[in-house]
Amino acid sequence: MPIDATAPYDDGNIFARILRAELPCRKVYEDDVALAFHDINPQAPVHILVIPKGRYVSWADFSAAASEAEIAGFVRAVGKVAADLGLVEPGYRLLANVGQHGHQEVPHLHVHLFAGRQFGAMLP
Ligand code: ADP
Repeated sequence: MPIDATAPYDDGNIFARILRAELPCRKVYEDDVALAFHDINPQAPVHILVIPKGRYVSWADFSAAASEAEIAGFVRAVGKVAADLGLVEPGYRLLANVGQHGHQEVPHLHVHLFAGRQFGAMLP
């Protein structure tokens, strides 16, 4: 079920548990503000999730409440993951689902990074 992006942060959500190392993940990158790991149900040859370490439900509260350092660090982390994996050429796709209409299911902000095949003009 898609989540309500205005709900309070739930510390029991699955990505919070991954951040606390209570659940495993296939990590590809970590720094002070971000963690990146392989999606458990990949929709492309490369499907990685990049999440901030802070307690943000979605792009909505992250963009409004995160510090400049968190925002800059997160954006740079997404770009670094793609660059480190050699994806800049021939390219990749980023996606962040927000709330009900965005069909966001996990209530911790995550950016999907898809790569490894040609995508169409429409979103996946
Ligand atoms: P949707 O499922 O509609 O794409 P989201 O944007 O919230 O909604 O995406 C959640 C993503 O998290 C899904 O792609 C799902 O496969 C992934 N996922 C769920 N649990 C885990 C997990 N334990 N480890 C890695 N990825 C996970």
